Amino acid sequence: MDLPIPTPNADSRPYWDAAQQGRLVLQHCTACGAAQAVPRSWCGKCQSPDLVWLDSGRRGTVASFSIVHRGPTKAFRDHLPYVLALVDVTEGVRLMLNVIGDDRLETRIGDKVEIVFEPRGADAFKMPQAQRNDA
Ligand SMILES: [Zn+2]
Repeated sequence: MDLPIPTPNADSRPYWDAAQQGRLVLQHCTACGAAQAVPRSWCGKCQSPDLVWLDSGRRGTVASFSIVHRGPTKAFRDHLPYVLALVDVTEGVRLMLNVIGDDRLETRIGDKVEIVFEPRGADAFKMPQAQRNDA
């Protein structure tokens, strides 16, 4: 069974469209310079509506994680155990991502990760995910 894919809305569509091209983009405020993880029409720090989408370097650090042994639906149960992590991306935002890869169960706080794109479903919708990068 396929894992679910997101339904983009007007605010998040640029994020998901970029992901389909293998790019991680983040909203940046041109007024105060803050980056934000949750796409919206104003800056969460200064409320400015002047936001731009910029490419991320796709590098981050695991701030916290959980190894999931009981999936919420059959689709997730087919992938147990999986790793759900909070990743601090170098641009200063925290994303919730799965850690994927054969070594995912060795994930530790402080691990360096790269944001990669995992194809899901019949249309290979690309989901940003994290992969440990010890190099
Ligand atoms: Zn701002």
